[in-house]
Amino acid sequence: MTKYIFITGGVVSSLGKGMASAAIGALLQARGYKVRMRKMDPYLNIDPGTMSPFQHGEVFVTDDGAETDLDLGHYERFIGNPCHKTDSISGGRIYYNVLMKERRGEYLGATVQAIPHVTDEIKHFIESDLTDEDFVMYEIGGTVGDIEGTLFLEAIRQYANQVGKENCLFLHLTLLPYIPAAGELKTKPTQHSVKQLLETGIQPNILLCRSAVALSESERAKIALFCNIAPQDVIAALDADSIYKIPLQYHEAGLDDRILHYFKMDNANKPDLSRWENIVNVIGNWEHAVSIAVVGKYCGLLEAYKSLNEAIFHAGIAHKTKVNVKWIESDTLEGKTPEQIAETFADVQGILVPGGFGTRGVEGKMLAEQFAREHKLPFFGICLGMQTAVIEAARHLLGIANASSTEFTKDCTPVVALMTEWEQDGKKQIRSEATDVGGTMRLGAYPCRLKAGSLAAKLYGNAAEIRERHRHRYEVNMDIAKRLEEKGLQISGVSPDGLLPEIVELKDHPFYLAVQFHPEFKSRAFDAHPLFKGFIKAALDQTTLL
Ligand code: GLN
Repeated sequence: MTKYIFITGGVVSSLGKGMASAAIGALLQARGYKVRMRKMDPYLNIDPGTMSPFQHGEVFVTDDGAETDLDLGHYERFIGNPCHKTDSISGGRIYYNVLMKERRGEYLGATVQAIPHVTDEIKHFIESDLTDEDFVMYEIGGTVGDIEGTLFLEAIRQYANQVGKENCLFLHLTLLPYIPAAGELKTKPTQHSVKQLLETGIQPNILLCRSAVALSESERAKIALFCNIAPQDVIAALDADSIYKIPLQYHEAGLDDRILHYFKMDNANKPDLSRWENIVNVIGNWEHAVSIAVVGKYCGLLEAYKSLNEAIFHAGIAHKTKVNVKWIESDTLEGKTPEQIAETFADVQGILVPGGFGTRGVEGKMLAEQFAREHKLPFFGICLGMQTAVIEAARHLLGIANASSTEFTKDCTPVVALMTEWEQDGKKQIRSEATDVGGTMRLGAYPCRLKAGSLAAKLYGNAAEIRERHRHRYEVNMDIAKRLEEKGLQISGVSPDGLLPEIVELKDHPFYLAVQFHPEFKSRAFDAHPLFKGFIKAALDQTTLL
């Protein structure tokens, strides 16, 4: 019988519920269990696709084209398996489904109510699209006490009664603030948070308590006493200096043992944690160091570049190299003299220009790209980073002075323009300026044919075709891309119909590669992405040239 684990958070937001969930998933997986991870976000957006990166951080994209919360990125990075569209839902989507059913007359004249109709829709999500998983984990976004979250808590309470409490575990993540003057951890906020959970009818079975200092036995006993649980089920989650240390840390604290004990699965296999031990070993013993610049638009909130940052780190692990990232807000480059730009990049061995939306900062991205191209500094462009790289090349190699993207201005030679048609699984997708913005981009994994002998093909182990995840509305014009080939910028990856340039690379350059997709979504600490590995290797080679 499948076991369900529901993860809630209390006291404050940003406690790292997503990370904690991912680490628990990894520990259960290390015992040989089949684990599935899901996220329920109570907010009213249908999905996070339309939210500003400054508000919500990165939008993580699944293979099957869902725009999801960045926590799904943690899940994939820790479990290794791709998440599905059906692994993420929002309050908005739940209400939307209920209202659509009401319009279709599916409630047969009933008065549509929060309970049972909304809670039933949530329970339907909990059970949907499952196969033979041993454990399914559901992280509930927000903090206990949030108004939007109430019906989600009610639904999981009902669900545990439905499938049996012995098959459902409620894990609550809280914070124990440390008050230096008193020299102690404070348990009261945790007690209150559990009380609030109890008001909804949910008795947490395990408390995972984030804290900056170790939890004493007396503090543990006190929490257990006030919160109706055994002291062994109060688990300390000490702050870690690397997220990749968390699985081992939780294991040492006994978390996976206690979860299995709850489910009466004490005789489970011992976990194989070698994957995590290897990573921790590399992190503690870097052999090399390299610095790269990331020229972005949302550097003020690094959550906006979550997967990118992790993918860079993973490539560092693969080369036993500590990668220092110099975050540069692209618009700060605008108006700088060539000497000032050279100075900005003097201390880095590579430049990465990531994805983004809108006009702000694109000229700065192009200045960085021109610098990398002309000074033979390793360059890696992603999505918007590829589009601006092609515009920069069209301006300076083809002499099209007003080359731009119709995303930025209508008054230009459109080297990059709105994609109005493309093929997905044999079906034509059609878009126009009038299409709604939510969920209508070219999203998810698409095949890409690689040009034999190219740098891209080499990095992908001479594969003929690869699949990578996309999230874009605009596309490089193929005719211009072909004209640029004569100037040395070859198209090394195209969509199978030959219509969409997916990868371009510069000949006679140590590493100049730009891709229309987002390779960062598929990188893992134990399996770094080949393009990131190639880029970091090229940057590392620069250090020997110094
Ligand atoms: N704004 C560009 C587009 O929509 C690039 C998107 C991205 O970088 N993810 O095509």
